[in-house]
Amino acid sequence: MRTIGLLGGMSWESSIEYERLINEGVRAALGGVASADLIIRSYNFAEVEALQAAGDWDAAGALLASDASRLETSGADVVVLCTNTMHVVAPAIEAAINVPFLHLADTTAAAIVDQGLSTVALLGTRYTMEQDFYRGRLVSRGLEVLVPDEPDLTLVHDVIYDELVQGVIKPASKQAYLEVIERLVERGAQGVIAGCTEIELLVAEDDVAVPYFPTTRLHAEAAVTFALTPSELEYHTD
Ligand code: GLU
Repeated sequence: MRTIGLLGGMSWESSIEYERLINEGVRAALGGVASADLIIRSYNFAEVEALQAAGDWDAAGALLASDASRLETSGADVVVLCTNTMHVVAPAIEAAINVPFLHLADTTAAAIVDQGLSTVALLGTRYTMEQDFYRGRLVSRGLEVLVPDEPDLTLVHDVIYDELVQGVIKPASKQAYLEVIERLVERGAQGVIAGCTEIELLVAEDDVAVPYFPTTRLHAEAAVTFALTPSELEYHTD
């Protein structure tokens, strides 16, 4: 089994979901007491959030790139960045490592294309919804991407930072998110991307009437697929 290097803690509320989902995926594939081979670098999110708020993406990129390189040196065969937002610095990370980097927007785009959809809504932090690093990657795969209008966009962003990354799950915020999703579906969205790794903690697939793309789960599944080579699967299912 290949070793997965996780850059996490952004926030740990969703990183622990990555760890759980990846381990569950390995157990489902290999059975018995098998679990994932992981190396985890988990940040103090307050330090990362301060860089985001200051718009200091260069410092954030240098930090994550240096730790991605340390994961590789420590034996990681792949690097997985456990947050949509920080993919803004994906180019810096990719430049620092020689092992593959599983880009979250690619994993998400593949799932949407697989379902044959062309227009999807994107919910996430303001950075993810407004900047091009994530949307652009989806658009380059032929997808049309809708984001909420104001004041919905600010509401979606604020619930992430004021509640979800702090472990606070409020029914009223879930209802507000579902109303935002309804408005996006009225505008033509055929599906919805939970484009922030904590959104799945608030809104589940069953809550949404259209196809839902939970990025944490999709990314974790891609990591498991990478980690388990076909020969490994054959060996364990004999
Ligand atoms: N985990 C979130 C995301 O997927 C937001 C926190 C962060 O800014 O990293 O975008």
